[in-house]
Parts: sequence; structure tokens; C-alpha cells
Amino acid sequence: MTYAKPCPECGQKNLYTATADSRGGYGPELLPGLSRFFNGAKFEVVVCADCGLTRFFAATEARGKLASSKKMEEIMKTYEHSQPGTLVLVVTLGLAVVFAVLAMMLLKPLWVTPVILLVTAWLFSSLTVEITDRDLRWRFEPGLAHKSVPLAEIVSATPVRTGPSWGIHWSPRTGWLYNVSGFDAVAITLRSGKKFALGTDEPQILAARLAEAIRQNPPAGFEA
Ligand SMILES: [Zn+2]
Repeated sequence: MTYAKPCPECGQKNLYTATADSRGGYGPELLPGLSRFFNGAKFEVVVCADCGLTRFFAATEARGKLASSKKMEEIMKTYEHSQPGTLVLVVTLGLAVVFAVLAMMLLKPLWVTPVILLVTAWLFSSLTVEITDRDLRWRFEPGLAHKSVPLAEIVSATPVRTGPSWGIHWSPRTGWLYNVSGFDAVAITLRSGKKFALGTDEPQILAARLAEAIRQNPPAGFEA
């Protein structure tokens, strides 16, 4: 563990540790977004018996929640953009209304269809793309299918036009395509030769940001 190292202040190893809560009725929540409802996130407190320097380390369980926390913002994030799934929403909600009317007029079992369509609309309501100092990530907003690749694995990122299909699907030209609206995407090629494409309403900006991020990651040779 980090605190098994000597005290950074005096260099001694006369250290003591205890676990402490990051929240209480008397003060602010010190690790926002990392607690469970009844169980506050924990600190491992380390005190140096020689100089008194006291250090707080977020416990392992709390650190495990950092990436998925809604309150904790990752500092080294250089790009974040969400494209609303306007097209998916319009199509699925339109069809849901049609099937709801059919279900009312004809067959009760048809109610299954609008329910499936509403769930689909919710699952694909937007696509968010992020670039950090290490990886490229994307997710459909309620959290379905969040994926990432290390920047060092990417060799190229170029804008492409896509066909009239949305969601998660495969095509021979782009490989796996993730999109929710429009006809624009950025095609990405990995060092392994694997390809995929991310739908976006700002393909030029995303491709440029990726090119920049890849250039700063020496292991990958970026081909413009
Ligand atoms: Zn010390």
C-alpha cells in the first residue's frame, strides 16, 4: 500500500493507521459520490508518530467507484461530447404510438411492441464520446454498452459517412458502428487491424482531437 512507504515529511516509518468515515452528521461529505446509501465511503488515515503528518487515503472500495461516480469528475479528460439520439427517439416513439393504436384497436398482445420500443428509445437516447489522457471511451447514455480503447492502440481516426441504420451494428466498411442519429461518424483503426466507428454530430472536431491525443501517445504511430 501507498502508506507502507516512509513518512514523506520526516522519512521515518513510525506510522499508525485507522479507518475513518468520509461523512458524518456534523460535516461535509469528503468523498462525494463514492458512498453507498447506508455505508459511507471510507478513508484510511495514516499518522506519523514522529512528526504528526496525517494523510488520508480513499479506501480501495471507494476508489473502485471513482470511474462510475456521477459526482467525481476525471481531471485528465480532454474531450467530452454527447450526441442526442434524435433520430432513434423520433423513429421508436413514432412506431410506439402506431403499435399502441393497433394494440387498442386490434390485439392486446401487440402492447409488447410499444413497450420494447420505449425501452429501446431510452437505451439509445444519446451517445457520449470521451477522450482522456489514456483512452477513448464511448457509451450510450443510460449506461448500456460502455466501451473503451487505449489511445496507444489507435493508429488512425478519420471522418466517414454512414448508411441509414442506427444503434450498434456491423458493416464490412467500418466494422462495429455505434450511432444514434445522423450520417456522420469517425472511423477508427487499431494497431491490430481491427476497425470500428463512432457516430457523432461533430466528426471533424472528434477526428482532430483524436489525432492530437494519439500523437501525444508515443507507442502508436499515427497515420494522418
Ligand atoms: Zn513523519
